[in-house]
Amino acid sequence: MTRDAESRDELPDWAGAKEFYQKYDPKEIIGRGVSSTVRRCIHRETGRQYAVKIIEVTPERMSPEQLQEVRLSTAKEMEILHQVSQHPFIITLIDSYESSTFIFLVFDLMKRGELFDYLTEKVTLSEKETRCIMRSLLEAVSYLHDNNIVHRDLKPENILMDDCLNIKLSDFGFSCVLTPPEKLRELCGTPGYLAPEILKCSMDETHPGYGKEVDLWACGVIMFTLLAGSPPFWHRRQMLMLRMIMDGRYHFSSPEWDDRSDTVKDLISHLLQVSPERRFTAEQTLQHPFFQSHQRDRGSTVTPYHRFRIAALTALACVRILLGWRRARPVTRELLIRDPYGVKGIRRLIDACAFRIYGHWVKKGERQNRAALFQNQPKALLWTIGDDEDHDGEL
Ligand code: ADP
Ligand code: MG
Repeated sequence: MTRDAESRDELPDWAGAKEFYQKYDPKEIIGRGVSSTVRRCIHRETGRQYAVKIIEVTPERMSPEQLQEVRLSTAKEMEILHQVSQHPFIITLIDSYESSTFIFLVFDLMKRGELFDYLTEKVTLSEKETRCIMRSLLEAVSYLHDNNIVHRDLKPENILMDDCLNIKLSDFGFSCVLTPPEKLRELCGTPGYLAPEILKCSMDETHPGYGKEVDLWACGVIMFTLLAGSPPFWHRRQMLMLRMIMDGRYHFSSPEWDDRSDTVKDLISHLLQVSPERRFTAEQTLQHPFFQSHQRDRGSTVTPYHRFRIAALTALACVRILLGWRRARPVTRELLIRDPYGVKGIRRLIDACAFRIYGHWVKKGERQNRAALFQNQPKALLWTIGDDEDHDGEL
């Protein structure tokens, strides 16, 4: 032990950190947040693996106000986590320790990491996989909302995956308890996922404020992104992107959306609804045909109606296959030269190669943006959160 550590050892407020280190063996960094570092760690007694979020609260590095804010927001995060951690699709807080300089939050380890990285690897997801992920996410959101909790930072970076690709919602740093008819006014979240009412509220003092509907907007953005491979609202000039969000201006553009069902597009349009009153709730979303026609556990009783439905769907599928086959164009050299991006297989290949060369999308505070790739201007890759339109020509 170093002399510094020894001297801190004598302080009573070093006890929390000592207890953590006695119980766990911290290993490599597996993630970083704004004021935290996440490491894999091993429980010394059982050898079990966990993830520990280490939040720095060092007086030398922060003003007393900042320090107070981090401590308060972490205490709030812990309180909410204790309340909701038992849900199967929400991260479990196992342990917590506090010292004068660090707070340690021990969670179950999600070995496959962020949905963000999984999507980057796969480029786009199928409707089937999207359904599976979104159903778990919506069940978690529905549970939070039933308990009057708003998450406020739903995005693929905060959705973690285990070995079997099951998801759990994490990062409750912006979450808060909201008892109706209470409303929120604070501008917080991640730009591309902000609901229009959050932006409007920050610009208009007379705005009535926003509520839990903001989480459903973010679910719409996530769902669109999983299927299209790029977000619905993006512009390298941040002001224009915010304008697009406030107007609810997005498109199911070709060719990304050509093969997607009308059912999934209908659901997304109910989530990306500018008016929070008209936007689907988590419960309504789970009741939509996109989820209802593919129940997780199918009932064993097949009624005559079900039999008729299966026969009708089979006939419809046969007609679709036949029409698709008749409409299929041969992939010729001319077609590849004229419109390579229009051929599905080639499109996936181009996207996959582009991501490998350029890196991926924007991560908060980092200089990457997957959406920028679609603008075909390398300079746009330098766009970061906080740049405003005045910097446009200089990037
Ligand atoms: P912040 O609030 O600072 O964003 P997060 O709680 O989101 O912190 O953690 C930051 C990153 O650390 C996550 O995006 C993820 O990559 C990784 N991470 C967090 N918790 C876990 C976990 N339980 N298992 C695996 N990785 C994790
Ligand atoms: Mg996070």
